[in-house]
Amino acid sequence: MELTVLGCSGSYGAPAGGACSGYLVRTAGAVLWFDCGNGTLANLQRHAAVQDVTALVISHWHPDHCADIYGLQVLFKHSLGRTGFPVFAPEGTETRLATLVDGDWGGTFAWTAVGDGDAVTVGDCGLRFSRTAHPPPTLAVEAAAEGKRLVYGADTGPDWSVEAFGPGADLVLSEATFQGAGGPTGAGGIHLSARQAGEAARAARARRLMLTHLWPGLDPTASVVEGSEAFGREVLLAAPHQRTRI
Ligand SMILES: [Zn+2]
Ligand SMILES: [Zn+2]
Repeated sequence: MELTVLGCSGSYGAPAGGACSGYLVRTAGAVLWFDCGNGTLANLQRHAAVQDVTALVISHWHPDHCADIYGLQVLFKHSLGRTGFPVFAPEGTETRLATLVDGDWGGTFAWTAVGDGDAVTVGDCGLRFSRTAHPPPTLAVEAAAEGKRLVYGADTGPDWSVEAFGPGADLVLSEATFQGAGGPTGAGGIHLSARQAGEAARAARARRLMLTHLWPGLDPTASVVEGSEAFGREVLLAAPHQRTRI
């Protein structure tokens, strides 16, 4: 299994090509796109042909995690002629985002509503979902294939933990929007600091932890120091186009 970061900027785009949330997960039998935040469709095309992507998973309908579905629909409809592309998303996402396409997706996507505790299989990859602590319905997702487990925590506050998927994940990809005790928006309850991300991954006995979704303008080195102290080992830091073997 291989993870490619398509974008990792927290909540809004950062300077110098800082796309928002998006990740490509490749297994022997599937190419999965987790979150299509703004900027990720362009970046994806450096790593894969769009027609080779097996399915899209949307964690929640905040635009920094799904805005590029509009461009994807245009590409499929007017260029590739593809219909029925599988999309897994929380209940209500299809309707919520339909305003982007004047209420008519035109059959481009095959939407499957997923919720807390659901499990689906795509190719050779098993996906499980867990509702996080974030205001719109938000799902963390675990990808399991080839004897490896990747947990992507989506957006969450500290009232949810990656431990929901059980201990010992090979890689936890955790948001670390803030540092220390809280953030500049005062929304500390719906996002994690690097310290909280490290503490949760340590409690869940994750083998490795990668921090992502850092608030633009924060010193990422400080987030790595803080997260590593809490995790007990050096954490990884997501960066656009970075590939990690799991
Ligand atoms: Zn976000
Ligand atoms: Zn969000």
